[in-house]
Amino acid sequence: MQFSLRKLLKKLWKKLWRNTKKNRFFWRSGKLTGPEESSIVAFGTAESCVLSEGFEVESLENSGKEGAIEVSPCASERGKVMVELDLSEKNKPFLDMETLCLLLDSYKSHFADLKCSTNLGVARFMWKSRRIYVYEKGKFKIRFAHSREDAERVMDSLSRLILGSILCGECSEPSVECALGQCRACLTETPTTVTLEDSFNAPILLRGVKTLRESVEKFQALENYSFSEKWPEQVDKGLKRNLKEIIESGMNFALQTRNLKDLRIGTTVIAVARGCLLTLELERELVENKEPEIPERFEELLDKLHMNIWHMQKSIVRGFFGESRTGSKRGDEKGSAALEILSEITSSRSRIFGKIDKDVLENFEKRVKKIIRCDRLLKNTGFGGS
Ligand SMILES: [Zn+2]
Repeated sequence: MQFSLRKLLKKLWKKLWRNTKKNRFFWRSGKLTGPEESSIVAFGTAESCVLSEGFEVESLENSGKEGAIEVSPCASERGKVMVELDLSEKNKPFLDMETLCLLLDSYKSHFADLKCSTNLGVARFMWKSRRIYVYEKGKFKIRFAHSREDAERVMDSLSRLILGSILCGECSEPSVECALGQCRACLTETPTTVTLEDSFNAPILLRGVKTLRESVEKFQALENYSFSEKWPEQVDKGLKRNLKEIIESGMNFALQTRNLKDLRIGTTVIAVARGCLLTLELERELVENKEPEIPERFEELLDKLHMNIWHMQKSIVRGFFGESRTGSKRGDEKGSAALEILSEITSSRSRIFGKIDKDVLENFEKRVKKIIRCDRLLKNTGFGGS
């Protein structure tokens, strides 16, 4: 990422904002702007975290890794080049395919011909007349680029779009998890928070945040759902659509943002929406795999767990994005209760879920623990929602 240039641009922009009356008017009159924009927070991350460093294509190129970038003429289009970039390391995966596919899918209205396969470990799409290939191991191919410099610009943009799917070197989780405080190595010793700084493109992110706040209303409908009923398709569908829109806003914001701190805030927005999507998916799988007749006690436990989960999700949204932030440091009883129920349910697994795939329940357990941890962290930092 071109930082010296970015700093200069930032200075120019600041001056621009100060001097332009029209812009000041825009700031004051916009419904989404005003004091609210500064109330979006993200966790601070340690220096070595991918979210602090970004994913710097240029410095890699100069780091003596010879052959990291290869340029060759395109066979099918004269004057265009194909650029290959290899960031792979010792055959280890470089990014999380599930997250990559979710990101690209949320952004698909900007692409043509998108294909993303978690099994094959490759994504392929057309973006602004370039064909792009992204491989799980960290190889990138850009075809039909005008020049090497052009490909580098595309790569810079691409790296911003998919930052959330890059695996953290410390915890091997996609960086969206680090953004939610799931990676002990990434999180600074005492969790600190950062607030939105760049203002020029804040409205893009704030649009996503507004949708997220509105989605919280749908969480309410979901909270009222009982596991003894059929899965609420309508709520599920509407919520998923909103969550993907939120991810798209986060990605649009990331494309233009001028500093890494703000990029991290964009990643946080994406991470919260993704977390909700995954929780929905897992809960749905549980409901669909539930035995037709289970003791009422288990039915009650499931409902209580479900309610606690979405209560915490709501509290996380409020904690990060300001609305009804209570600053409450208490209120961890939902998390403790959820943990207890979780262990009771897993120990009676076969009675409740029959022959459910072990992975589903394990993934669900992991997800719930992540929600509890994130909610706790926000509360400890004084940003808890109710
Ligand atoms: Zn990490």
